[in-house]
Amino acid sequence: MTTIGFIGLGIMGAPMAANLIDAGYDVIGFNLTQDKIDALVKHGGRGASSVAEATKGADIVITMLPDSPDVTDVVTGADGVLANSHSGQLLIDMSTIQPDVSRQVAAVGAEAGVRVLDAPVSGGESGAIKGNLSIMVGGEAADFAAAGPVLNTVGGTVVHVGPHGSGQTVKAANQLIVAGNLQLLAEAIAFLEAFGVDLEASVQVLRGGLAGSTVLDRKAANMVNRDFSPGFRLALHHKDMGIVTAAAREAGVVIPLGSAVAQLVAALVARGDGNLDHSGLFKLTSELSHELSPADPR
Ligand code: NAD
Repeated sequence: MTTIGFIGLGIMGAPMAANLIDAGYDVIGFNLTQDKIDALVKHGGRGASSVAEATKGADIVITMLPDSPDVTDVVTGADGVLANSHSGQLLIDMSTIQPDVSRQVAAVGAEAGVRVLDAPVSGGESGAIKGNLSIMVGGEAADFAAAGPVLNTVGGTVVHVGPHGSGQTVKAANQLIVAGNLQLLAEAIAFLEAFGVDLEASVQVLRGGLAGSTVLDRKAANMVNRDFSPGFRLALHHKDMGIVTAAAREAGVVIPLGSAVAQLVAALVARGDGNLDHSGLFKLTSELSHELSPADPR
């Protein structure tokens, strides 16, 4: 039986680890908060009390952590993954982090004899629960092949996109597209509301045309119902917009609309809305409009 050390049991990591357990893997999980470890054990996994315990004896280690410094700490820290790894172990980092940090992690991993893949995901909490995430993978082709059974357990679309860091580059593009879509959806719903059009009927017909999108399918209801429970936290999308704007600048690529949306996300985070779902872009958009709308004096 393949043993998987799973580090980071948050909104995404917890259901992914649960799906691996359901598929017959021996999963030993670690998280900063004990409640998430307890939930994994209840689901049939094993609990670890440290990164070291989750790593030792695991054939594969998966990390699903918030940000680049978290991955660097957990992997290269004093009692981290690499300090407790064995030669030939496979480390699959599924967090969304900076492409250059993924390349560094792969380089130090190689020095320790650990094979590293960057494998960020798209599809949100529902994709994690259903096990049909889209997974963009950077690294060696042979390591991608070795990770195939595990990645196909949590993913529906699993694609090797190039060398180390490439998965993160594709994920950065993904986040740019999603943020832009969300903002325009927010503006469209605020616009429809201002005219008192039936929102359910509007969304239904928009879904069938060129304006249709996964963002529209999954997030319109959040905006219409003002339900911004996460989901994908704005604080994490803020991190991702930082990644894509910095990488684009470095490459000399101009992303005017992406930069504008990045500022709106930053404003929401700065005013304390970072723990709302990213559909919370609607909150700011509608507030900005309604302040000026004679039809809705407040
Ligand atoms: P989250 O904040 O819900 O979960 C992160 C988990 O990591 C938390 O449970 C936290 O306790 C744990 N953690 C943090 N530092 C740790 C450490 N040092 N050791 C052990 N555990 C630690 O975040 P999430 O929404 O699950 O996202 C995880 C990653 O996946 C992020 O990089 C995010 O950008 C990406 N992502 C999220 C979604 C989504 O819809 N939520 C979708 C695609 C990608």
